[in-house]
Amino acid sequence: MTPRDHRARILELDRRHVWHPYTQMDHYVSKVEPLVISRAEGARLYDANGRSYIDGNASWWTALLGHGHPRLTEALIRQAERLSHTSLAGITHENAAFLAEELVRVAPPGLTRVFYSDDGSTAVEVAIKLALQFWAQNGRPERTRFVALDGAFHGETLGVTALGGVEVFRRPFANVIMECVHVPTASDGHQLAFDALTRVIEDGAEEIAAVVLEPVVQGAAGMRMYDPQYLRLARELTARFDTLLVLDEVFTGYGRTGPMWATAHADVSPDVMCTAKGFSGGMLPMAATLTTERLFQGFLGERSRAFLYGHTFCGNPLGAAVARAVLETYREERILEHARPKADRISAAFSAMQHLPGVTGTRSRGMVAALDLEGGDDYLANGGWRVYDEALSRGAYLRPLGNVVYVAPPLNIDDQTLRELLEIVADSVRATMAG
Ligand code: PMP
Repeated sequence: MTPRDHRARILELDRRHVWHPYTQMDHYVSKVEPLVISRAEGARLYDANGRSYIDGNASWWTALLGHGHPRLTEALIRQAERLSHTSLAGITHENAAFLAEELVRVAPPGLTRVFYSDDGSTAVEVAIKLALQFWAQNGRPERTRFVALDGAFHGETLGVTALGGVEVFRRPFANVIMECVHVPTASDGHQLAFDALTRVIEDGAEEIAAVVLEPVVQGAAGMRMYDPQYLRLARELTARFDTLLVLDEVFTGYGRTGPMWATAHADVSPDVMCTAKGFSGGMLPMAATLTTERLFQGFLGERSRAFLYGHTFCGNPLGAAVARAVLETYREERILEHARPKADRISAAFSAMQHLPGVTGTRSRGMVAALDLEGGDDYLANGGWRVYDEALSRGAYLRPLGNVVYVAPPLNIDDQTLRELLEIVADSVRATMAG
């Protein structure tokens, strides 16, 4: 079979059998000529047709060290030769233990316990179940409600769907999900947001299990960014009323916004913190939920007080070996330090794009930047998809969020590739808006 025939065969089978996430399948099957990725290296994806595309979103925000980093690949192979999987229920293994210690060492102060799971959704699902069970068995069973931001996104499971504030994702499940109060974000105006959060907590603290936030950048909402001061307020209020603060660093962690954790912009420590994407190195599903000693203590005693929860692959030795190699690479290759000048370049390039026709705003924070195209912030809007097609033809993969076009490339993208990516964004917006 020639490579061309092989590619055609993949597409034929894909169209017949694969149900793609976040994809309207009739449009996909009849109208889309998708990328057929055959390999990836650094910040580039390679199609089976031989063309390469700059990975503008680090493959759904996970490949923060790029694709095929030799340290990660080597750690995976070495581990696969010894132990690929074992349960973590009542037994342990080397990588689970060492990784937990290494993660705690770089985590915000006070987070000392690590509960493993598979991905961002499960990391937050763990957080909300922990919060509910903690209050249920420590004298506050009425604390069952959550507070989250308008436009929040915390994952796909039914539990965390309740926290979600993107209307189109919630709608089909609105009748069956848990109760959650949504409050305006600080990007809607500081005083309004501060007042709303203060009121909700002051009035309802007795019933609130936790306030759950994406710190500083709300990814799926359209890369909305808000003042870190808001996190300080949330910390201060949750502490004052003795309810929990859960920070979802699934997207923002591992230096995406500059520091290792976005919460460092506000210098606050949560009671619970969730990490996944960057933590996994983009190689295998791997996530962790970190908690304080206080929460951990609330599960001791009778057997029934234990956290009776655990996914089959939690703490998987392969994923844990890679996650350790990720942390080692951050240390030894000084990833955060080297990302700083790249972040400045991204910021300057996006600022300049605010003058392009059809662009209504731009923003950036560390290694993420976004621009809004005219037409509003509906996730289902089409503007970004026209830019997406343009960018593909120019050699970059730029999956949008409605009318929001953004970049969130690997942190170690080389300077030449970054320059090319930023040029493609500007050229694609220009071409789309002119056309
Ligand atoms: N939390 C945040 C902030 C996210 O951005 C996402 C996914 N984009 C998730 C949780 C869910 O992660 P996953 O897709 O790995 O389940």
